[in-house]
Parts: sequence; structure tokens; C-alpha cells
Amino acid sequence: MKLPIVRYGEPVLRAQGKRIDQVDAELRELAANMIETMHEANGVGLAAQQVGAALQLTVVDVSGAEDQESTLKLNGAEADAKKSMPLVLLNPELVLGKETAVALEGCLSFPEITADIRRAISVTVRAQTLEGEALEIEASGLLARVLQHEVDHLNGVLFIDRMSAATKVALRSRLKRMQRETAATAR
Ligand SMILES: [Zn+2]
Repeated sequence: MKLPIVRYGEPVLRAQGKRIDQVDAELRELAANMIETMHEANGVGLAAQQVGAALQLTVVDVSGAEDQESTLKLNGAEADAKKSMPLVLLNPELVLGKETAVALEGCLSFPEITADIRRAISVTVRAQTLEGEALEIEASGLLARVLQHEVDHLNGVLFIDRMSAATKVALRSRLKRMQRETAATAR
């Protein structure tokens, strides 16, 4: 089932995700619905906060992004980044590589806004799967960027927090308008 995506201005986007200790049918359904919602919206990632649940749960799928490469290792073994999608990650913990790069980024909670964001080129993520297994992901390229964006969401951090000051100033009135519109819809 496709879920409504929460927009900028909703307090849940600023909420710290609660750690998940037990996977039940409800959580499996939420994860499945998040994958469907992400695919419907042509997104490459979706965090639980974006569907109104403050939980340490995110889904990622970079298989549709043809123009941006990703590399992936799963538990130390080379894996096909596209064929390994979608990923469902519980309680992800992120270790950033040292080198950074700037690239254009968007967010499903900020329709029509994109901005250059500096992020690590490679990351290591330790997480649990829905099956309760420990998973170590080493990623670079687009996948590394998406993982950083989504783990930020799980901690209540948004991509606007990572923009340069100049970009934020340039977007200020659009962001204000978006907050007002979100507040009006919620009423
Ligand atoms: Zn986002």
C-alpha cells in the first residue's frame, strides 16, 4: 500500500528514530509499504519519518538510477549494487569515509527543491535486516550518498541542514512557503 509522504514542516521529520528491537508483522508491512511508496515516487531512498513513523528504519533502491554509479560490498563480499536492491535497514550506524564530494541532491519531503550537498564518497553502514541478521555494507558513489541522506533522516537531520549558507539563503522564501503550506494542510 502506498503511503502519504510527509512534507517539510511536519514535526516528525525532526524526530529521532526509535531503535527497533523486535520485528513483527506490523513492521514488515510498514517496510513493504515504504518500498512501494519509494518506487511510486521514483525515489532512491525513504526513511520511516517520511511516512510519519519515528523509527530507525529506512529503505533504499538505487537500481533505477542509470546515470550514477554505485559500488557495494555486503559483509565483505563484492555485490552487484543494482541487483542487491531494495535494501531494508534497521538501526543503521554510519561510518564516513574521509574523502568528500559535492553533488546535486533532492528529497521526497521537499518537492521540487534540489541543492548541492557535500558528503563522504564512501561509507560503511552496520545495520540489521528484517530477518534479524547483522549486515555490514560498504558503499561508494550514489549508494553512499543515499545512505548518508537516509541515516540523517532517522536522526531528524534534513538535507537543508547540510546545504551551504548561501544555498540556504537562496532557498529561504521557498522553504518558508513550504512550511506554511504543510501547516495549512495539517489543519
Ligand atoms: Zn530525504
